[in-house]
Amino acid sequence: MNHQNINNNIYNQGKRKTIRRTTFLIVSGLAILLALSALTIALGATIFTQQAKKPGPITSVAQAHSHNNLSSPTVSPALSPTAVPVSGLTPRPEPITPFPSSLQQQIATLQSKDRYIARGNTSLPEVALSFDDGPNPPYTQQILSILQHYGIKATFFSIGRQAQAYPDLLRREHQAGHFIGNHTWSHPDLPHLSASDIRNQLTTTEDAIEHATGIRPTYFRPPYGDINPTVLTTANSLALTVVLWSVDPRDWSRPGTQAIISRVLSQVGNGSIILMHDGGGDRSQTVAALPTIIESLQKRGFRFVPLPQLIDHLHQKALSETSGQTETLDSAPTPRQFIWTRRWLADLRVRAATM
Ligand SMILES: [Zn+2]
Repeated sequence: MNHQNINNNIYNQGKRKTIRRTTFLIVSGLAILLALSALTIALGATIFTQQAKKPGPITSVAQAHSHNNLSSPTVSPALSPTAVPVSGLTPRPEPITPFPSSLQQQIATLQSKDRYIARGNTSLPEVALSFDDGPNPPYTQQILSILQHYGIKATFFSIGRQAQAYPDLLRREHQAGHFIGNHTWSHPDLPHLSASDIRNQLTTTEDAIEHATGIRPTYFRPPYGDINPTVLTTANSLALTVVLWSVDPRDWSRPGTQAIISRVLSQVGNGSIILMHDGGGDRSQTVAALPTIIESLQKRGFRFVPLPQLIDHLHQKALSETSGQTETLDSAPTPRQFIWTRRWLADLRVRAATM
């Protein structure tokens, strides 16, 4: 091997080394890049999974419950469907077709679509207040002030001719976020009327309420709760939801403030629709009874909900049925829990006073 060859060999070896080193560096670089990409993807996936685990669409009452506990600003619309006045944007329900002719079948058909309601969900500590026969000064204003004080939304089943006489009062009800239902034009016993007269009673009232508030009501309460097939057929043709009641203190007969209070408190239960009156005469007893009724029921753990919410919750299962938790929906204390807490607080106060 001559000198030149040796030099060539050394050169070639050096060249091979350089090539090997470069290849190694490139391969390592690629490997590091690949590893980094894999890490990024893995991290991204983890973050995505965690985000996916965050409260998304509410699929169960238990989840709905935790949503409310978090006071999340993005509560599902299903939970607060109509806490604000129903706007013209709310799609109006359609009449049910075909509609049966016998009363029992009519009721069953309407009930199957939640269009015939006498009470809400008997598993939930929710109640709805309703006031009939108004608007009627000064009692309607007084009731509005009380409801505003307690932050409660009620439903006013208004008489058409009263709505025509006091459109400003009706507007105040609507603007305060209450709901307005159709209680006929002149409060007749509807089954005694012809089909066209029944229709007239309902449509003129719809017109008067819409004229005052801009909203055409979708709830209808027949006077005295009296119905027959013609009444239900007409109500269905106007796509009205029939709303009756489950608690009736007969406040219209002016039995005394205490009697109104005790009748409501003894009859009320989960899902009650409470019937009272702002119209039809002197309603000072009803007005005087209202704050005690509200406070007593709230202390017993009941929540006052707007009628649309009561209807919307009709088919929800109580939380205790869907999970092992003992709390009722929306952290409302059960009556027993509340009484226990109150006793404990009272105990504490007595002890503090005697120390
Ligand atoms: Zn009435």
